[in-house]
Amino acid sequence: MSLLAHLTRKRPQAAAAPLSECPHWELAPRWDSVDDIGHTDRITHYNCTTCGNTLSRAEADARAAS
Ligand SMILES: [Zn+2]
Repeated sequence: MSLLAHLTRKRPQAAAAPLSECPHWELAPRWDSVDDIGHTDRITHYNCTTCGNTLSRAEADARAAS
């Protein structure tokens, strides 16, 4: 797959919510180590289930506070 094809590949629901306008309401926690899974204090980053963007913990915290 070319880089351009990868960048332009979108899931159906992403079409209705462009990256720049996605509020990132639905965030799925991600862990670097499988041993850390389930420990909320060890979450390394989040994935937005709507746009697929990756948010850091700081970004997710700021999103939750706003
Ligand atoms: Zn999003």
